[in-house]
Amino acid sequence: MIAPIRNRIARRALRVAACLMCVCPVAGFGFDLPQENAVPGGVKIIRLDGSGSMPYVESDDHRALVVQDGVYWVAVVGIPLSAPLGIRHVSVRGANGATTVDFFVADKRYTSQSLKVAPAQVDLSAADLARVADERVRIDHALSHWTEPPPESLRLPQPVPGPRSSSFGSRRIFNGQSRNPHSGMDIAAPTGTAVLAPIAGTVVDTGGYFFNGNTVFLDHGRGLISMYCHLSAIDVTPGQRVAAGTRLGAVGMTGRATGPHLHWGLSLNRAWVDPELFLP
Ligand SMILES: [Zn+2]
Repeated sequence: MIAPIRNRIARRALRVAACLMCVCPVAGFGFDLPQENAVPGGVKIIRLDGSGSMPYVESDDHRALVVQDGVYWVAVVGIPLSAPLGIRHVSVRGANGATTVDFFVADKRYTSQSLKVAPAQVDLSAADLARVADERVRIDHALSHWTEPPPESLRLPQPVPGPRSSSFGSRRIFNGQSRNPHSGMDIAAPTGTAVLAPIAGTVVDTGGYFFNGNTVFLDHGRGLISMYCHLSAIDVTPGQRVAAGTRLGAVGMTGRATGPHLHWGLSLNRAWVDPELFLP
């Protein structure tokens, strides 16, 4: 984890150096922002007036992440995969009163994926349906955490090395039946490979879930929550503070999985967003 941190410091130094050469307003301590892509499952970056205290930004009634980048406040807004295309609004309450910021959500053609799993993982028994409903409430609870301070970075290295499928957002067809789109990144790695916290956070919840298998949720601050699924082992406990590089558990194939891999989910203002946009 040392190399990404060193790269981060180098990028910041470069940004400050650039500001000494041109007379641009981005002076001071910059923030590592994600790549912007205003599509369903993407991220919109909105620069706001930097004077005064941190503005309160809401999207779909969920508080959005705001960080200081140089002389600006910057809202980093997650766009749900279910968001309609076209104009989208966020509300901003700041030093100069309340206002609405509009932006455009463009189309993104996500692919479709056909997968074969055990029949009981598609046509759920009454007991399993009840279990999944309870788990949905628990997941919602984990995603709705809001803590300070802000994440140490919005550039998150891969939690495990390995090839990643670019299947975020793809329509999922299990045993011929259409299900929810894929809301994370899958990274293939052998069972037992260590899963490392990409940046510092607090363990919000851990447990065994019907679809997600053994799972860890991390709260990184200001509504950025990450999720690690299908683990063969969990090595952290709720409430534990973890530094970047801490071992969270090991890769496995618990829950609904066709082979050993890590499912890595990132949620901003309770919307699953594409982890690819956050890679360094
Ligand atoms: Zn997955």
